[in-house]
Amino acid sequence: MSAFPRSYALSDGNSFYCSCERVFDHKLNHVPVIVLSNNDGCAIARTAEAKALGIKMGEPWFMMRDLCRANGVRVFSSNYALYGSMSNRVNEVYRLFAPRVEIYSIDESFLDLTDVAPKTRAELARDMRSTVGRWTGIPTCVGIGPTKTLAKLANHIAKKNPELGGVCDLTDEAERDRWMRKVKLEEVWGIGAL
Ligand SMILES: [Mg+2]
Repeated sequence: MSAFPRSYALSDGNSFYCSCERVFDHKLNHVPVIVLSNNDGCAIARTAEAKALGIKMGEPWFMMRDLCRANGVRVFSSNYALYGSMSNRVNEVYRLFAPRVEIYSIDESFLDLTDVAPKTRAELARDMRSTVGRWTGIPTCVGIGPTKTLAKLANHIAKKNPELGGVCDLTDEAERDRWMRKVKLEEVWGIGAL
């Protein structure tokens, strides 16, 4: 039994497939990049620069071909062998920080932080995030909360608010209330009701 109430972190790779492509070609670092679905049908990953051009998730390739050419967007077919092996590397780093890792999707994992003192969780998350960045090249955001759902919400807040430095901790109830008044919950993928 831990002395602390339950705590989870959700760590998520930013623009994960695009970030994997960038690891192997640094010339992609400050240019718009998208990855297309199987058979190059539509966009399934976009960097911030590609989002800023108005490219939408799931947008069919034929509708954005001209825009991509005109703006120098680098376009990749999906390479799941590469993304899978990068995902394994990222999860290995997570396990050094929190041994109980539950892989939720190719770029999202829940970590059990129950044994970590509440005051040091955000610091651990920042340390993990910078280690993942240095060792694998993948940028991540980390959300922390007393349930997996709240960790997911915290992750969403970390992603949308760059001033947080990639980590949002909703352990504190007052902090949680403050953010929950600001965030439109329907924005958070997968959350219907809390
Ligand atoms: Mg992601």
